Amino acid sequence: RLISAGRESTQEDALERALRPKQLADYVGQQKIRGQLEIFIEAAKRRAESMDHVLLFGPPGLGKTTLAHIIAREMGVNLRQTSGPVLERAGDLAAMLTNLEPNDVLFIDEIHRLSPVVEEILYPALEDFQIDIMIGEGPSARSVKLDLPPFTLIGATTRAGMLTNPLRDRFGIVARLEFYTPEELALIVRRSAHLLNCDIVEEGAVEIAKRSRGTPRISNRLLRRVRDFAEVKADGTITRAVADAALTMLDVDHLGLDVMDRKLLGAMLEKFGGGPVGVDNLAAAIGEARDTIEDVLEPYLIQQGYLQRTPRGRVATASIWRHFGLTSPNTNPN
Ligand code: ADP
Repeated sequence: RLISAGRESTQEDALERALRPKQLADYVGQQKIRGQLEIFIEAAKRRAESMDHVLLFGPPGLGKTTLAHIIAREMGVNLRQTSGPVLERAGDLAAMLTNLEPNDVLFIDEIHRLSPVVEEILYPALEDFQIDIMIGEGPSARSVKLDLPPFTLIGATTRAGMLTNPLRDRFGIVARLEFYTPEELALIVRRSAHLLNCDIVEEGAVEIAKRSRGTPRISNRLLRRVRDFAEVKADGTITRAVADAALTMLDVDHLGLDVMDRKLLGAMLEKFGGGPVGVDNLAAAIGEARDTIEDVLEPYLIQQGYLQRTPRGRVATASIWRHFGLTSPNTNPN
């Protein structure tokens, strides 16, 4: 998926890091979380304590990793980064925890994918800054309690509902990241264009912003593709017309829906009469994992009112029938 929220090449990763805002003041949007964090960070700094543990949830590309880095930086501490699937054994997590310095931030991405044994280690670590580890094997094995320095865990996940209750309960701060408005995304596009030394007019930034699925990572990715197009097919400046032509070439339509969105919605309309259809049937019909539908595709489509989640399954709304130039069989012709 060209403009997917997934990460493909290391070069793209390097560019993404370069565009990442480094301080809270440069972090666009998410006013509510930002306002709360400003206070929590300041309070923790005044007491010279670690900040409470933070759980950030929301679809990929909305700025969870960025926020974790900003928190560590504003606290003036190190950030150690890992992810749920990487921590296979209890010892992997124990090694990271025992290497922390006081008040450091430990960032665990995809925290819902921690294995149960690793999660067990985490509970006392979060609550009492202690871990129990087994030393030795067989009959001589014994459990040893280790004290840890105080630290802040920042966990990121696409859906808070995927965490076990005991884990979720151990976060003092739980924040949901929202999709960005086109105005906020236009600001991000302009800032990124400036960092990339690329000429863009306001309407060009707005066009990219409107077609970015409410997601900064997608805005930045589309900006780089549109910049290529502007350099090769135009005089290098991103105008509205250049952005429109480039995005159309990239198969991003005027609603900002990409190939995968249209595949999903098209299957709903053509194979399932607009629904209701269960997510597993949809996944099978388009050959995608159920998680991809639930975590990556659906949230934006639901937020925009193109799709509804009902107890009997997913239903396409009238606006999507219109967008595809089709008539809903349920529409009253009068
Ligand atoms: P997540 O961890 O939620 O998947 P990231 O933090 O990796 O998302 O964000 C992806 C990219 O989007 C970042 O590299 C950054 O350039 C940009 N970005 C995210 N949030 C913001 C924001 N609030 N303001 C400006 N740029 C942002």
